[in-house]
Amino acid sequence: MDFRFTTEEEAFRAEVKEFLKAELKPGWNDNFDSESELGVEVQGEFAKAFNKKLSERGWLAPAWPKNYGGMEASVMQQVIYNEEMAYAAAPVGFNMGVAWVGPSLMLYGTEEQKNEFIPKITSLEHTWCTLYSEPAAGSDLAAIETKAVRDGDDYILNGQKIWTTGAHRSNWGWLAARTDPDAPKHKGISMFLVPMDAPGITIRPLINMAGDHDFNEVFFEDVRIPASYLVGTENQGWYMLAVALDFERSSIAGSARVRRGLGELVSFTKENPQFIENKPEIRTRLADVAVEVEIGAALSYRVASMQAGGKAPNYEATIAKLYSTELGQRFASTGIEMLGMYGPLHPKSKQAKLKGAMERGYQLAVSATIAGGTSEVMKTIGAIRGLGLPRA
Ligand SMILES: Cc1cc2nc3c(=O)[nH]c(=O)nc-3n(C[C@H](O)[C@H](O)[C@H](O)COP(=O)(O)OP(=O)(O)OC[C@H]3O[C@@H](n4cnc5c(N)ncnc54)[C@H](O)[C@@H]3O)c2cc1C
Repeated sequence: MDFRFTTEEEAFRAEVKEFLKAELKPGWNDNFDSESELGVEVQGEFAKAFNKKLSERGWLAPAWPKNYGGMEASVMQQVIYNEEMAYAAAPVGFNMGVAWVGPSLMLYGTEEQKNEFIPKITSLEHTWCTLYSEPAAGSDLAAIETKAVRDGDDYILNGQKIWTTGAHRSNWGWLAARTDPDAPKHKGISMFLVPMDAPGITIRPLINMAGDHDFNEVFFEDVRIPASYLVGTENQGWYMLAVALDFERSSIAGSARVRRGLGELVSFTKENPQFIENKPEIRTRLADVAVEVEIGAALSYRVASMQAGGKAPNYEATIAKLYSTELGQRFASTGIEMLGMYGPLHPKSKQAKLKGAMERGYQLAVSATIAGGTSEVMKTIGAIRGLGLPRA
């Protein structure tokens, strides 16, 4: 087994690092109110300008063909890119257009849909949100009830979505809706492209426990969209959701973020040794985190190397997601505990240490173990598909 990166991959990493060093000068994010990883808009004009530069380099969707605004990068280059962006805490957010809307359109879209929508993802004209979850359909996504009923050349949408990240700053939505209420639940779902300013759509903010407005409730009341916004075949949407899309699934960003945070925490303790004095258990836990960062990265590289070898990672990607998100929680808990009374101070507090990063990390690390599939569901997949245990 060869763990080394190729010369080209190392050269690409150096290029990304160089770019980040030039763009993210020390103190670049000192004045932001929030460091929410999803809140590109929160970080204002700086983030917009930064993302524009990524777009111009074809880095927003590294793996995509050049005519769609990508750079035709390999899986490993994508992993390197995502690792470096996360390590630098760059204001890139999570781009759902890149993650699944574009890849799905490449596979299932009509020529018109491809030409109309894909280039606008990488040019940043369109920002996408994902309209899957509903109050009674999260882990059991196939239970969705939002309806799309065909009416001449249109579909009429009615229902409610929830936890829609970025709905308030997106101009397009990627929607799963029920088109055949009588079919078995997996067989009556279709995927649609929805303009978020269509009459009948109401977006209500949901504030997360860190105090950020990232996700929303979205209501559809007799929303009319052209039938040309259906993607693929009617009632085949579930298969589109389930298909292993051609994007990087390694979860490398999770361990890269912890690696960065651990480095900062360790530097802090060297300057402020009182925080670690007589706390052997904290020292041990920090050493554990250092080991776990390497394990998380190895699990992620494993997924990436499978993808690079043309294999579709399944439970391997699930385990990498589970491990890196739970590692984020373990690290944040250790950091908070180490800082004692200072730990829970909000970044805005003058007394906060490390600019309140531990408090922020602690609050945000919880949601990562829920978003994109909960830890319990990830473990079940690992048990059944990884270990081959019988279904409960
Ligand atoms: C930060 C964040 C961003 C999100 N962004 C979006 C978005 O943009 N678009 C979108 O559509 N959704 C989004 N979601 C929603 C997310 O996909 C759901 O929260 C997630 O799938 C879980 O669904 P649920 O909240 O309904 O919980 P439930 O499915 O009701 O689960 C509740 C609890 O029961 C457990 N549980 C459920 N089923 C099982 C099972 N079979 N076995 C064992 N345990 C089980 C779960 O693990 C959990 O602990 C986001 C969520 C978060 C936290």
